[in-house]
Parts: sequence; C-alpha cells; structure tokens
Amino acid sequence: MTAPLQRSSLPALLIASDHGGYALKEQLKTALSDEYELTDLGTDSEDSVDYPVYAYRLADMVARGQYPRGILICGTGIGMSIAANRNPLVRAALVTDQFTAQMASEHNNANILVLGGRVTDTDKAIAITRTWLTTPFAGGRHERRVRQLGKIPPSPHLAAADPDVFQLIDHETRRQEEKLIMIASENYASEAVLEAQGSVMTNKYAEGYPYKRYYGGCQFVDQVEQLAIERAKDLFQAEHVNVQPLSGSAANMAVYLSVLKAGDTILGMSLAHGGHLTHGAPVSFSGILFKSLSYGVNRETHYLDYDEIEDIALRERPKIIVAGASSYSREIDFPRFRRIADRAGAMLMVDMAHIAGLVAAGVHPSPVPYADFVTTTTHKTMRGPRGGMILCRQEYASRIDKAIFPGIQGGPLMHVIAAKAVAFQEAMSEDFKEIQRRTVSNARCLAQELQRRDFSIISGGTDNHLFLIDLTSQPVKGKRAEEILDEAGITANKNGIPFDQRPPTDPSGIRLGTPMISTRGMGEKEMKVIAGFIAAVLRDPENAVKIREIREKVRELCNRFPIYRERLSS
Ligand SMILES: *Cc1c(COP(=O)(O)O)cnc(C)c1O
Repeated sequence: MTAPLQRSSLPALLIASDHGGYALKEQLKTALSDEYELTDLGTDSEDSVDYPVYAYRLADMVARGQYPRGILICGTGIGMSIAANRNPLVRAALVTDQFTAQMASEHNNANILVLGGRVTDTDKAIAITRTWLTTPFAGGRHERRVRQLGKIPPSPHLAAADPDVFQLIDHETRRQEEKLIMIASENYASEAVLEAQGSVMTNKYAEGYPYKRYYGGCQFVDQVEQLAIERAKDLFQAEHVNVQPLSGSAANMAVYLSVLKAGDTILGMSLAHGGHLTHGAPVSFSGILFKSLSYGVNRETHYLDYDEIEDIALRERPKIIVAGASSYSREIDFPRFRRIADRAGAMLMVDMAHIAGLVAAGVHPSPVPYADFVTTTTHKTMRGPRGGMILCRQEYASRIDKAIFPGIQGGPLMHVIAAKAVAFQEAMSEDFKEIQRRTVSNARCLAQELQRRDFSIISGGTDNHLFLIDLTSQPVKGKRAEEILDEAGITANKNGIPFDQRPPTDPSGIRLGTPMISTRGMGEKEMKVIAGFIAAVLRDPENAVKIREIREKVRELCNRFPIYRERLSS
C-alpha cells in the first residue's frame, strides 16, 4: 500500500462502502470535497459486493496509521461496524444522530465512522460526519479506557476448548501482573512476540536451513528465518548467525560439538561463583563429556581474577575458554579474555545469555568482536521468545550449522523463530534501548538503597541488571528469604554466593534482577520503595502482619505499572 497522505493541505480521510452505501458515499464525497482530501476505496457501483472486504481494507489502513480516520457505509451500518471492529486497533462507531457522533469523538476517540445508507438521509449524514470530524477527543479518564481497547482480549478458543488450561494461563498472567518479579533471567515478552510465538508456524516442519530444506512448503518459514538471521546480524554486527537453538544450553552444546572431541579440555566459570551448568559443571553434559576446569572470582573483591584465569589457561591449555555468567554483577572484560585465549592457543566462547539485551542496546560492551563464538538465550534481557542463538565468525559457520542440525536437533521451532525475528526488530527501537538503560540504572539504584540499609552486596554493587545480597549476617538465609519475599509479593531466587559455606539447597544469597520491573516502566523512585519493602521483609521475617501489609502495597504499585492486564479474563 502506498503511503498517503496530504497531497493537498486538506486533512486526509478514507471512505468506502458496499453497494448499499454507494449512493450516500458519492453524496458525502461531493459534500466534503472542499474540506477533506478524500481517498475512495470503493465500491464503484451499485452492483452487489461483500462488505467485509471493504471494511477490512479501510480498517487496516487506519490501524497502521496510514490515515488518521475513515468512513464506512453499508445498508444499515451494522455489517461494516462489526467487520471494522474485528481489528483491535480500530474504534468504529455506528452513528445515526448528531449527539452520538459527538460522543463517538469526545469519549471514544472513534477513528472510523460507520453510517447506514438506508437508515440516514443525506443531510443528516453530512451533519453527523461534520460533527464527528470536528469534535476533539476529551482525553483524561477516557484516555485510559481507550488505551484498554487496544489490547488483545483473552484467548476465546482456548477458553471454550480447555477451561482448565485457560484458567491456569489466566492465573499465571495475574501472577506476572500482580507481583514484583525480580528473577534476573526472566522478562516480559511483548504482545507482538507472544502472537508470533502462538502462530500457525508451529505446524511446519523445516529441517535444514532457509532455501535448503528437507521438506516442501517452506517458502514462508524460509523467509521468516532469513529475516531473523539478518536482523540478528544487524543487531549484533555478527558474521554468521544460527537462530535454531532450542535453548541456551543447546546453543552451548552445539558450539562444543562443532570444535571439540569428547575428553577435550574446557575452561569456564565455576557454577559456585556464578557460571552456568553448561560451562563445565560435573552434572551437565559439559562436565560429563569434556575435561572441565573452572575459574572463579577473587575472594576479597568478588571480581573476576583475570591474572588467575590466565595462569590456569597457560598451565592447562584448554581447547576452549568460556566467558559469561548467570549471576555475576560486573562488566566482563572481553578484550582481556581474547588476549588470554590467544596466549593459551584456545578458542573463545562468550555466553551472553543474561546480558544480550544490554549488549544489543549498547549498555554493556559487545563480545562479538572478540569471541570466536557468542551464544545466548533470546528470552532473558532480550525479551524475546524462550530459545537460543549462536553468533560466530564466518570460518565456523558451516560447522556450527551442522552441529545444530543434524548434530543435536531435528526440526526447528519455526513459530519461535518468527517470534525471535520480531524481538530482534523490537531490540533496534529506542523504546528497547531505554528499557535496557533503565534496567541497569535501576539495578544500581536498588543495590545502593539496600547498602544504605546495611545489606551486603556481593562485589559491592552492580554494572548490569542483577546483583546478589549476602545474607550471612541476616536473620534469614536464602531458602527462607525466597519464601517470605514471595509471600510479600516479591519473587526472586535463592542463590549461592562465592565461597559459600552453606549448601546450594539453602545458600547464603538471594539474587535480584531488574529486567521485569524496568520493562513495566518502573524507575528510581520505585526502586527506593522496593528497597524499603525488601529490607523490611528480610529484617523481620516472622512478622506476618507486616508481610501482608507489604503484599498489599506491592499490589498497588504493580497496578500502577500494568503490563498484560487486558489479557486477563475479568
Ligand atoms: C540461562 C543461561 C543458559 C541456559 O539457557 P536455557 O535456555 O535455560 O538452556 C546458558 N548460559 C547462561 C550463562 C545462562 O544464564
């Protein structure tokens, strides 16, 4: 569709009708042609046509913002208004008198006026149209209500077919809406990402890669995967991208499989100091199949000790060094890791699962120029669908692609890849960058506020989206802290701290992350309030009355920062 608008200085207006509204449409055009630049989408005669075709076309152009407003006319106006209002971004008002025309603009900000050619005579229709066009939207309380109209209604098919699952999803939506979720690895995907992920692309088998598949019928999934690849390359300035990994763990497994043999040595960050299972933990394939060595943080500073990493690398000569972490709050020095890898004759893999969104937005340095392989999840700070991705140098491209398929996976999840494409596009927006900047400034603010209240923060603060509280000198330890915070409406996870003396089932730390509360729009003012809640709960863990009070305040705070509220069934 070519862009509109304003070929003249007159305001632009769309108009369309079926056969029943044709005569009135022609009369309205004549009456309004001096005041509006009218674009007529048909129909062109009184021959019988189907009104939904015209309604959908006009509604789509208004919904996309190509035209600010449009007029639809059929015999009674009923069919046109039903059809136009199926578009969630349309507010079509069927109007038969002037007062209603005024209200349609003033209260409902109707962007489409619907008239009945067999119901309303020409003079009245002209008066109605002028009133609708010239009455301004009142805003205020109506603004909030109109905004709610733009949200997607809850899944009608699921509600009818499987009330049990529907209700559980409804409860989960409510949980995500009404609690302060501070799990550092989670985020809210946009409604657009959720829609792509819930699409018919889930039905398609597409083993292979774009334009080289083992199945027919791949013309559209080919394009969607190519789009995801191109967008990821742009976003991260990568030479080669594979968007098929089912998860972050699968991405890591594929990298190892592409260049290592069983028994080769890998050097990664210790799980106990903030590394990930797949960086060589004994219980993971990475520790089972390979000889795994680990490095950690400095006992005093809790910062990575690069000199020690270099000593281990030079002594042990690993084939691959893995940088990246799940609970490390400081910036990672990728150039330093590159120098260590070069001196040790090792390849460098950076697992940026946690910080990919920060990297995309430029608020954490990018590992891409320094690493042979960069792996990531797409669902943590990235805000995409649950899944993984590998970025690599061109020289490793075909080995990586073969390692994913047929190496460790079969058919890719094309609906998830479609949602990845959407998320990568979103990640290029100024909105996304602002969320990532706020995620970091909120984490810093929250850590400082807790320090002011005498809580000890591992490494003394944070450069990214998360940090660990050391609860060693507090009345509650990790397990109970997680439980009572959740009772108070604050969801976080217990976490080991470096050199922890306690078992992983009840460790000395709690991990807090700011991605979700930042995505829903909270800022430093709210961080100060949240720090107060957290301190009160952890200081006085057995005070059930106070916990209930805080729960109520959390609910009020969350109500002021809605995220999916309109998805709820009631
Ligand atoms: C979360 C995470 C992963 C694993 O991602 P999954 O999708 O859960 O398999 C890998 N590496 C790091 C550093 C992570 O934080």
